[in-house]
Amino acid sequence: MRPDANRLRTVDEHLAFVLAGIGTIDPIELTLLDAQGLLLAENVRADVPLPGYDNSAMDGYAVRAVDVRHASPEQPVVLPVIGDVAAGARSRSGMGPGLAMRIMTGAPIPAGADAVVRLEETDRGVARVAIRRPVRSGEDIRRAGEDIAAGAPALGAGAALGPQQIALLAALGRDRVLVRPRPRVLVISTGSELIDVGARPQFGEVTDANSYLLTASARDAGADARRYGIVADDHSALLDVLETQLLRADIIVTTGGVSQGAFDVVKQALSELGTVDFAQVAMSPGKPQGFGHLGDRVPIFCLPGNPVSALVSFEAFVRPAIRKLLGKRGLHRATVQAVALERMDSPAGMRQYRRGVLHREASGGYSVSLSGGTGSHLVASMASSNCLIVIDEEMTEVVAGSRVTVIPLLLANR
Ligand code: AMP
Ligand code: MG
Repeated sequence: MRPDANRLRTVDEHLAFVLAGIGTIDPIELTLLDAQGLLLAENVRADVPLPGYDNSAMDGYAVRAVDVRHASPEQPVVLPVIGDVAAGARSRSGMGPGLAMRIMTGAPIPAGADAVVRLEETDRGVARVAIRRPVRSGEDIRRAGEDIAAGAPALGAGAALGPQQIALLAALGRDRVLVRPRPRVLVISTGSELIDVGARPQFGEVTDANSYLLTASARDAGADARRYGIVADDHSALLDVLETQLLRADIIVTTGGVSQGAFDVVKQALSELGTVDFAQVAMSPGKPQGFGHLGDRVPIFCLPGNPVSALVSFEAFVRPAIRKLLGKRGLHRATVQAVALERMDSPAGMRQYRRGVLHREASGGYSVSLSGGTGSHLVASMASSNCLIVIDEEMTEVVAGSRVTVIPLLLANR
C-alpha cells in the first residue's frame, strides 16, 4: 500500500495512496435545502401521484367535447355557464350535459366534463359562453399521475440534489431525505511564528493565512470546514489539540512543520505515532507530504506551510478526498488546454504547478500567462491568479505558443 519510501513518490502514486485511505461517512437525514448539492443515499418512491388529480392546463371552460363538436367561428355553440372552479377548490364540482363551467389553470376538472376550451376560443361569457372551436376529449386536461404515478421510483440513491431534484422531493411531500453528508474538515495551522488575523505582526511574526486558505478551499470543495487556528511548534501542544479535536472531524488538515527543519514538529510528533506517513512527492511546490490516520481512522493531511504549497497540496490531494467522501463521481477538477503566452520551465522529473491567469480568447480557445514567480511564499501573486498550470513530470520546458494543461480555479457550486 505505502509506496517505496526511498524514492520520490509521483503525484499519482501519492493520490492513490491517499484515496485508498479514505472510507465513507454514514448517511444522515437532512431537510431539503440543507441537502442541496449532496448525493441522495436512499431510493425515493412517489407516495402520491403527480399531478394529484385531473386538472385544467388552461384558463377556459370545462365542457363535454361532444357538446361543442359542431362549434365554429361562424356558428359558435352557446352553453350556459353554471359556475366557476378555481385552483384551491377543495371539493369536486360536477356538471350535466349541455353545460359549461368557467375553470382556472390548475383547478380540478368537474365530474361530467372531459375537456377544456381555452378562453381565447370563446367570448369569455359569464352567464353563457359562445364557443368557437371544437375540442378533443381530454384536451387541455393534465391527468392525475401523468408526471409520476404513485409508487413509481422518483430518485435513486446517488442522485445529485440540485434545484430540480429538490423541487420533485418537495412536490412529493418529502421534507427530509437521507444523504451523504458534507465531511467535517478541521484546519490547523502550525508554526511558532504565526499570529492570528487582527493583530499587527511584530518582527519575526507571520499572520496565519493558511487556515483561511484551506478552510475556504475545503468549503469550496463541498466540506463543512472549520478553522481550529494556530498551534505553536510544540510536540505535546500539537498532540493535545489533535486528540481533543479528533471526535469533531472527518478529515484533519494541518499546515507547516513537515520539512526537514529542526523544528518541524508535525512530522516528528506524528511519525512517532506510526499511523501517519511522511513522504517526498515529485511535485513543485508541495514536495513534503504527510498523510495517515489518527484515533478511530480519522484521515489527517499534513501539508507544507508555504501558502502556495498548501494550496497546491490541497488541490492535488485533499480536494479529491473530500469529493470521495461526498460520494461524487468526479473527484477532479476539469482541466482545459490553453496556449502558453510565455515560456515556462519546469524541473525534470517533477510535476510543476504554476499559478496563472487564464484568458478566454474571442476565438473560443484559452490562453494562459504566468502570475508572479515560482516562489511558494507569494501570496499576492497567488491571489491574482485564477488557475494552476500543470507541467508534467517529463516536461522541462513549455515554449511560448505551445499548449499546456490548466486547472481553472473557478468557485465550485457546493
Ligand atoms: P514550514 O512548512 O512550517 O517550514 O513553513 C514554511 C513557510 O511557510 C514559513 O516561511 C512559514 O512562516 C510559512 N507559513 C507556515 N504556516 C503558515 C501559515 N499558516 N500562514 C502563512 N504562512 C505560513
Ligand atoms: Mg513551520
